[in-house]
Amino acid sequence: MSKYTGPKCKLCKKYGEKLYLKGDRCWSDKCPAAKETPSGGGSGTKTFRKQKSEYAIHLQEKQKSRILFGLGEKQLRKVFNDVSRKKGIKGENLLSALSRRLDNVIYRLTMTSSLPQARQIVGHRFVKVNGRVCNFPSRELKTGDKISFTEKGKKIDSVKKSLEHSGSKNIPDWLKLEKDTMTGTIDRDITSEDLIQAGIDQRLIVEFYSR
Ligand code: SF4
Repeated sequence: MSKYTGPKCKLCKKYGEKLYLKGDRCWSDKCPAAKETPSGGGSGTKTFRKQKSEYAIHLQEKQKSRILFGLGEKQLRKVFNDVSRKKGIKGENLLSALSRRLDNVIYRLTMTSSLPQARQIVGHRFVKVNGRVCNFPSRELKTGDKISFTEKGKKIDSVKKSLEHSGSKNIPDWLKLEKDTMTGTIDRDITSEDLIQAGIDQRLIVEFYSR
């Protein structure tokens, strides 16, 4: 059995799911979690979760989502507070807002092999939203928004390499990638079903913050 070496892989071990924190390695057979989670992550990968207190389960789910979206505690709390003022189901609104962050969309479109890399290329002004450069990784995208690269951005080796291997990765149904033009679109609204597939129990996070 492969060993969970390194702090990032150990987080996957700790939370009992693939958190995709090491770029291309996470999609390869070098990922130690792949041996234990044949479904490749998501809600069906809780088999090695130990018995825990209710508080610990809530905390774990909140921490897992924080790590998955690469956010600090304050950032996650802020998004939660923002969505709490909106109509609808709090947990779904939270996950939807996190999923539609520009950095997350770029990463899920497989334009980069990691979330930090997505954040970096946005910060360096290599990414455009609807034809205009956007350097805010936290920008919340809407259905129909189009993501593309500046001319310099199109030449970034790591982006080209990541797109080359996009076939082996799972792109969420609500996103559409056009590899030839290096563009992506928020193709449709995110549904409850999409959020279930994300493998996060939003109810637990809401309960954690509502204590
Ligand atoms: Fe390590 Fe990535 Fe596999 Fe997690 S998903 S165990 S970070 S290789």
